[in-house]
Amino acid sequence: MPDTIFHKIIRREIPADIVFEDEHMIAFRDIAPQAPVHVLFVPKVDFATLNEVPGSEAAVIGRLATAAARYAKQQGFAEDGYRIVMNCNGDGGQTVFQIHLHLLAGAPLGHFGTPGG
Ligand code: 5GP
Repeated sequence: MPDTIFHKIIRREIPADIVFEDEHMIAFRDIAPQAPVHVLFVPKVDFATLNEVPGSEAAVIGRLATAAARYAKQQGFAEDGYRIVMNCNGDGGQTVFQIHLHLLAGAPLGHFGTPGG
């Protein structure tokens, strides 16, 4: 059974600031936020990286993205804007090997590749 820190959060073995949960996913605040709002959306099906997700499971990713957008609307920052990110493996900076989507918001994040971006 996979046993990342995120699985422990799903099983309530370690605490997290959970903002949303349903049968498909859990969403909680990142412990080391990179923006004023930094929430992680983690599916309850096990895929270590995006590379393992087959096309037949594309809905797993779609649900994470649409849940992030829904949360942005509910929290009132959807119109100001936000960024969603999925890191993959070493060059992508992935550190927890259960797929997850980062939602970053709450301040101008800059353009990719620019200072502050
Ligand atoms: P990655 O680098 O794999 O894309 O993202 C993993 C994220 O998980 C990082 O932003 C990191 O701060 C966050 N993280 C690591 N351990 C914990 C934890 O125990 N609790 C929470 N809430 N976030 C964590």
